[in-house]
Amino acid sequence: MKVTVFSSKPYDEQFLKEFNAPFGHQLVFIENRLKPETALLAEESPAVCAFVNDVLDAETLGNLARGGTRFIAMRCAGFNNVDLAAAKALGLQVARVPAYSPHAVAEYAVALLLCLNRRIHKAYNRVREGNFSIDGLMGSDVHGKTIGVVGTGIIGSIFARIMTGFGCEVLAYDIHPNPDCVEAGVRYVSLDELFTRSHAISLHCPLMPQTLHLIEEKTLARMRDGVFIVNTSRGALIDTEAAITAIKSGRIGGLALDVYEEESELFFEDLSFRIIQDDVFMRLTTFPNVLVTGHQAFFTREAMANISNTTLSNLADFEAGRDCPNLVKLDSKP
Ligand code: NAD
Repeated sequence: MKVTVFSSKPYDEQFLKEFNAPFGHQLVFIENRLKPETALLAEESPAVCAFVNDVLDAETLGNLARGGTRFIAMRCAGFNNVDLAAAKALGLQVARVPAYSPHAVAEYAVALLLCLNRRIHKAYNRVREGNFSIDGLMGSDVHGKTIGVVGTGIIGSIFARIMTGFGCEVLAYDIHPNPDCVEAGVRYVSLDELFTRSHAISLHCPLMPQTLHLIEEKTLARMRDGVFIVNTSRGALIDTEAAITAIKSGRIGGLALDVYEEESELFFEDLSFRIIQDDVFMRLTTFPNVLVTGHQAFFTREAMANISNTTLSNLADFEAGRDCPNLVKLDSKP
């Protein structure tokens, strides 16, 4: 079956090709992002494969459907960029990779927190310039601190357990508390208590209308002075302009982001010779206590292998007319 793979990078091609042997799909790799104009490149592809920053709005989906596409295989867990109502109306099926390596993301969130706390990102540059002064690099012991985890699903629960291993008090908030976390010593509290008491907060809930700008002026006002915030989930959980104000006032003591609300115009591309037009993003990068990475938390060998295998298997289920266990319910909320 012909499958057009959008937003394809060399590593996508390497892993998808490697695992495609038993499936035998005819994979066509396209570097462009999927959007209304590029959807036409998938003509006569019964299935397309898309990623986190592709634009799967009603117009794109309409163009895909007109070109003969019936199946969309997301090679990621999130599907907040897919207009599910439009997919349903057009008779398109959408599948995803619900879990590929939750450890990859949870471990990365821990790495960001530790790096930011001990100023390793600053030390790295200093030493390379022959500056061995440690002035300004002081952090705090993580042991004994209170860590707030928002969303204790597959990734958040692993993050929470790792932090209990550091000797932290771990507070959590989730609309569906996870009994495994309770067993590991995590205490569920209200979102307000989590915000007020935590020295560091890590976000692991999905982006949906209820969680859009969960971190904004009012919630920041409830937090400890010098709070650390880590976001490896979705950029729009944080109101970036409010975060900038809180960094300037000292309310936020450290901000580590692997995701950014306007990342689709920036991330996954080499823009080092371009003039970046996003002034909010550029302001963020000027602070010594802000660490931004370009959506790489998932990026481990294990995760890439699992993503490729599950995506190819979802496509095979569609081709064979079998029930695909990873279909997105089209009336569900992302
Ligand atoms: P999951 O569905 O297993 O867990 C999400 C949890 O959030 C669930 O327990 C759910 O009950 C909870 N939740 C839902 N609404 C909530 C609310 N209003 N308040 C608090 N909690 C709420 O998802 P997961 O696999 O653990 O992924 C978590 C996030 O990480 C997703 O947003 C995903 O897109 C993101 N992610 C990022 C990367 C990366 O590379 N940066 C990779 C994979 C996943």
